[in-house]
Amino acid sequence: MHTQILQIQNFDSKISRKSLVSLTSLFVIFVCISILGIDAWRSWSARAIQLREAEIATANMSKAIAQHADDTIKSAEITISGIVERVERDGVNKRSLERLHLVFQSRVEELPQIKGLFVFDKNGNWLVTSLSNPPLNLNNSDRGYFIYHRDNHNDSTYIGDPIQSRSSGSWVITVSRRINNPDGSFAGVVLATLDINYFNRFYDSFNIGENGAIVLVLNRGIMLTRRPVLADSIGKNMLTTTVFKESSVNPKGTFVVKSAQDGVVRLNGFQRLSKYPLFVSVALSKDEVLKEWLNDTYLHLVTVAMLISVLAAFGYYVVKQMKLRLSAEVEMLRSQAALQALNQTLERLSLQDGLTELANRRNFDITLEEEFSRAIRNSTSLALVMIDVDHFKQYNDLYGHAQGDVCLKKISAAIKSCQSRAGDLAARYGGEELAVILPTTDIDGAVAVAEKFRLAIKNLGLLHSGNEAGIVTVSAGVQAMIPIKDLNSPSELIRAADQALYAAKHSGRDQVCAATRPT
Ligand code: GH3
Ligand code: MG
Ligand code: MG
Repeated sequence: MHTQILQIQNFDSKISRKSLVSLTSLFVIFVCISILGIDAWRSWSARAIQLREAEIATANMSKAIAQHADDTIKSAEITISGIVERVERDGVNKRSLERLHLVFQSRVEELPQIKGLFVFDKNGNWLVTSLSNPPLNLNNSDRGYFIYHRDNHNDSTYIGDPIQSRSSGSWVITVSRRINNPDGSFAGVVLATLDINYFNRFYDSFNIGENGAIVLVLNRGIMLTRRPVLADSIGKNMLTTTVFKESSVNPKGTFVVKSAQDGVVRLNGFQRLSKYPLFVSVALSKDEVLKEWLNDTYLHLVTVAMLISVLAAFGYYVVKQMKLRLSAEVEMLRSQAALQALNQTLERLSLQDGLTELANRRNFDITLEEEFSRAIRNSTSLALVMIDVDHFKQYNDLYGHAQGDVCLKKISAAIKSCQSRAGDLAARYGGEELAVILPTTDIDGAVAVAEKFRLAIKNLGLLHSGNEAGIVTVSAGVQAMIPIKDLNSPSELIRAADQALYAAKHSGRDQVCAATRPT
């Protein structure tokens, strides 16, 4: 019973240890996944922040560049407006043209954005320029801005397509206005050319990476300049581009688009000029924007991978140790159980008689001692039955010693089968003499029990031709006493029972005798 409880307890603790191993494994896995998850989330939000910041940067740069273009064109517009007024007032006689030439020169010197100033007559001939040595007999009636002013009775400033200057050969943006005769008819054109390099220099001061771009475009879809410059940048038709489409719908904004030209994905910011029909756009390569983030992410990934490896290795080690311990514990419990079983067998063997499987003499002595003490304590009657096989020597002689052993076994089994109380103990006292201890039994009870034994053995009907009855019989002596401390002893009980047995033998065997002097 005790062993069973122990085993159940061990089994329970084995289960809880096993679930502890699983829990530890799960915990390590959970920690590793959490670290990975948190870092992935951190990294992803850092990416979103980086992109958002780049988007804001493109919007801010667009705003600054649009403002710059507005101011530059405004300065040219103010200049040519003054010239138109002057020409319309003073006419184009030689004296006023000479004075204009001087004014032009000083304006060009004062305003670095203005490359040149020109006045053309109604046929496109050069009347006056800012150039020190103007080429002779040049005619600009074929230029777009000239045709526009000639054909449109419109006094507003016109920004033309980019052209290559006839005087310097460099690319310029034209800002022009129409000159009217007093009757309103076309009298000519005043033109200021803006150096595209003036814009380019400004745009080059922005850090837009290797694959970034800044463009200045007319609202009618003609590109004025691009940084970095591409072969066909100046004058390029932008009507089909996303930035043109976006800027024709919104005055400013941002968008992401993959370039059809070079396949680079760019974050674009654009802004229309507030005063003129132009817009600017700043684009940053998404890859370049995310480069720093990517490096940072790689670094994090390596660190996290190392951390997780260490954690996983540590977790693996701990779980392995726990498993080892667990199996050692199981092994220990197993050997403990085996040892217990062995001990039980040994104990049983040390207390049992090998032939009859009744208690042996040692067991009998111990039990009698214990029961005697108990009877003293409880003042109860303790009985002892001594049984001896009749004429057994002869039995051996007649049937052989081995058959004698078989007979003894059968007699013992018969006695065992008669035992009704758990506290009774049947033992082999020695040779063919058996003894039965009967606690809390008085002499009459003990005699009755002994009689039961005698009859049970007789009823076995084991042939014994050397015995009077022709079958095996036994004689029994019985004694019972309520022992008193320090007065009685177990040997006294044995002696009395033995004497009763002796009497039974002498009275003709095959009978039970109670001790003559009951105590
Ligand atoms: P009695 O009726 O007076 O008891 O006659 P008996 O022949 O039985 O006399 P006793 O009790 O003195 O003889 C004991 C005999 O029992 C001696 C021995 O040969 C036999 N014996 C004792 N132990 C064993 C045993 O373990 N096996 C066998 N086969 N015989 C035994
Ligand atoms: Mg004997
Ligand atoms: Mg005998």
